[in-house]
Amino acid sequence: MAKATCLVCGAKLNSADAYRVEIIVNKRTGEKELKYRYCCSEEEYLKEEARKKKVKEDKDNVYYFICDMFGYEIQNTQFFDEWAKWNKLKSNEIIYKYLRENEAFLRQACDKPFDNEYHKIRYFSAILKNTLVDFKPKVEVADKPKVVVAETIYESPTQSLNKRRSLADLEDMF
Ligand SMILES: [Zn+2]
Repeated sequence: MAKATCLVCGAKLNSADAYRVEIIVNKRTGEKELKYRYCCSEEEYLKEEARKKKVKEDKDNVYYFICDMFGYEIQNTQFFDEWAKWNKLKSNEIIYKYLRENEAFLRQACDKPFDNEYHKIRYFSAILKNTLVDFKPKVEVADKPKVVVAETIYESPTQSLNKRRSLADLEDMF
């Protein structure tokens, strides 16, 4: 019986019992070849695929968010070196939350005149390296609380002055 190795966890498998993954390999000649890889179970394989997808999404989110702030697709290798340093402090998922919560401040920081791109990257990276460690993401707020408040007030025929006042207070908060 053919022996195989699990492509996720590296366990030794018997290919006849294992979950088979079909992979299309592009050969140098331009031909395509169908190959088989093996995994302990379909569940393990799907979990790994979902994990890889999430890793890529988090990375893309961070990259394109910063490119949007800079105003172009950054290609400078120094940028990627600095990014690796941020990842020693926080995961890309947390970095993306940090960027969104501090967007206005960071955009302002990027807006200053810099001698060159390298200085801009160093300046931007210094902010992240100094603030990421202590960053705690806000708890996600439930959907559309403002709309619910407004509807409650307008639909209620017995609204009191107190209620109206509390709506005004809420509006001030936003
Ligand atoms: Zn496995």
